[in-house]
Amino acid sequence: MTNNKINIHFLGATGTVTGSKYLVDTGDRKILIDCGLFQGLKELRLKNWEYPPVNVADIDAVLLTHGHMDHTGYLPRLVKQGFKGPIYGTNPTLDIAKIILNDSAKIQEQEAERANKEGYSKHSPAEPLYDLNDVEKTIPYFKGVPPSQWLPILKDVKARFQYNGHILGATYIELDLRGKRFVFSGDIGRTNDLLLFPPLKPKKADVLFIESTYGGRFHRDEVEALPQIEKLVNETINRGGSLFVPSFSVERAQLMMLIFWRLLKENKIPKVQMIMDSPMGANVLELFHRTRDWHRLEDNECDEMCSHFTVVSSYRETMELRTDYKPKIVIAGSGMLTGGRMLNYLETQAQNPNNTLLFVGYQAEGTRGRKLLEGDKELKVYGKWVPFDMEVVEIEGLSAHADHRELIDWMGKIKNTPERIFIVHGEKESAEALQKGIKETYGWDAEIPQLYTIEEIE
Ligand SMILES: [Zn+2]
Repeated sequence: MTNNKINIHFLGATGTVTGSKYLVDTGDRKILIDCGLFQGLKELRLKNWEYPPVNVADIDAVLLTHGHMDHTGYLPRLVKQGFKGPIYGTNPTLDIAKIILNDSAKIQEQEAERANKEGYSKHSPAEPLYDLNDVEKTIPYFKGVPPSQWLPILKDVKARFQYNGHILGATYIELDLRGKRFVFSGDIGRTNDLLLFPPLKPKKADVLFIESTYGGRFHRDEVEALPQIEKLVNETINRGGSLFVPSFSVERAQLMMLIFWRLLKENKIPKVQMIMDSPMGANVLELFHRTRDWHRLEDNECDEMCSHFTVVSSYRETMELRTDYKPKIVIAGSGMLTGGRMLNYLETQAQNPNNTLLFVGYQAEGTRGRKLLEGDKELKVYGKWVPFDMEVVEIEGLSAHADHRELIDWMGKIKNTPERIFIVHGEKESAEALQKGIKETYGWDAEIPQLYTIEEIE
């Protein structure tokens, strides 16, 4: 085909923060950027069961910005639907994706099984979106790429993966197509992160896709959260309660470990049992050693930090610990309480008003996390309603996401005026706030695309 137009299909993360998927179709090449799962609102989750409105078997390659579920969680479905091309990402991104996909498949298998046993699913029999076998069929398509280098990923298509400080291995992606520079921000990290380096910034963008998770919102620096956490731990432990921290298991959980360890070392918090409960937890230390260039932690710090934690991987241990009511600190997944071990703890501990639930990451619309933050007094765990009486606290400065100012600054090195700017990965208000901010700062017009729309690039 000699048609010079490039079509962009918005297949996810439009008006929401989950389901990231953008298909770039040049006519003879089809490249999918990210392949995330929809999470949160039921109407969104149901979209995971729909066949995307493109021919999956025709997609030539998938490029991943980072390993989070909302950017990689759909991959096994894509392979099931006939995708057979390479899946590119940095090595830590692919390692994290592997861990997350296996965990996701296990959780889905368990939930389907439990739903069938207890009969609470509307589908009968309840089925997982994908299982461990589907994940196993997906991994062979993974192809690790080095960061900061232009790579010929397909004929006539060059891509570069650039450090963006969101999680281990996270990058933004630059794509050169027919003389135009496409830039996909991925999720942008913080400028001053305790664990990661500041994001690199693009110098050129003809077509820019920018995330807007925290558009219109401002975070404090991470270090400023430390006294807040110190106070919260002390208050909770002094009244005989425990502190529960739902967290993405990879990287944010390690940041929380680092913070609790530092506070403990400085004798600022009492010596109580600290638990990192995650089936992925055991792999994490190893991952940190292997990804030395991607974060600020020295190997010995990593070891010392871990020595203060009970790292739980077996489900049996979780079931024992969740009925232990001694004051403690528990870090467990999932970050937005959409699943994971934290639910097992909340089922038995949520009724105790001395306990504290601390949110340290973004809570998307429709998730249990968002509902509790908004004041819900009960939560649904495995089909059962459980009364909820814990204190709920949110500390925003610990998010792995850039705030409004950092998003605007991230575009500050772009020398040309982009032809098109698409604001993605944000709820309506945040996307609109960023749109306004871009106009005010740079005078650039930006668009907020809708799900399943196609935009033509001249
Ligand atoms: Zn992310």
